[in-house]
Amino acid sequence: MLEVHNIQVLSWTLNALDISWEIRPTYEDTADYDFYVLRSESAAGPFQVLNSKAPIVPPTAFLFRDGQQPVYSKIRQFRYRIRVVQRGTGDAVEFGSRTRDERSRGDQAIGSVGVEALPDKVLLAINRRFEMLLEKKVGRRVLLLSRMTFGRHCACYDVELRKILLPDCRTCFGVGFTGGYYSPIAIYAKISPVPRGVRRTPELGEVHPSQSMLELGRFPPVKTGDLLVERENRRWHVGQVTTTEKRRAASRQVAAISELEKAKIEYQVPVSFPAGYDFVPTLGLRPRMDPTAQTSDSAILQSGG
Ligand SMILES: [Zn+2]
Repeated sequence: MLEVHNIQVLSWTLNALDISWEIRPTYEDTADYDFYVLRSESAAGPFQVLNSKAPIVPPTAFLFRDGQQPVYSKIRQFRYRIRVVQRGTGDAVEFGSRTRDERSRGDQAIGSVGVEALPDKVLLAINRRFEMLLEKKVGRRVLLLSRMTFGRHCACYDVELRKILLPDCRTCFGVGFTGGYYSPIAIYAKISPVPRGVRRTPELGEVHPSQSMLELGRFPPVKTGDLLVERENRRWHVGQVTTTEKRRAASRQVAAISELEKAKIEYQVPVSFPAGYDFVPTLGLRPRMDPTAQTSDSAILQSGG
């Protein structure tokens, strides 16, 4: 089986993103393989094949131009993977940001690649240490749900008025696109403690405002509007995100988050944590959870419906 590496996503135009990749030197006949480009708006997927009818076949260049969605949004980020299919046997393997070596060391996550500056070796070491700190000492597992910024309009969305007519819609959860959010990603993150208070307003009655800070590594990229879910089913709206960078390559992200009132529609988004989930940071070494794995059917936290 061929091995894909050095996947890069670049763009010099607003109308398209260019995805390129390489394969490791091999004795196999590369003409026996088909290449497919997969894309998602969230690192957790679901990934969609962009060229299902027109696979890329060597010896053509390993290059694909994705012009299906313009890149006008500053917060939207596309993630890409490459799928290699051996035509005779139908065997398929996907490649993302993680090399086969990294994956063979117990970390099964494939990863994905977006438009981003590449880290140098110093930053890679810093990032690894910070992620270890989160995983072993100060962080805990939370679920991050990436908000859709395009897709199939929900029936509650009025295209002419450009607004959602039903804020409590259970199909899009107030996002405007069917489903509302992508699959949850389990991440290690640090949430600062929050002062809790009660405020009474003439319009809303009693509200419990709470603001906090979220700290996480460079992956997955969070954006304003995303949804954060804790094990205790406290849900947070992600506000402004600041990224620490070294030569423009991301190192860690700090986001302002605000806890949602329990009556909010975001509490109806179905979320479940995988079975056997360990929420306390481990001190020993153990294989990491696949952050892109689909969550299973255990411990459904959905409060209503
Ligand atoms: Zn809707």
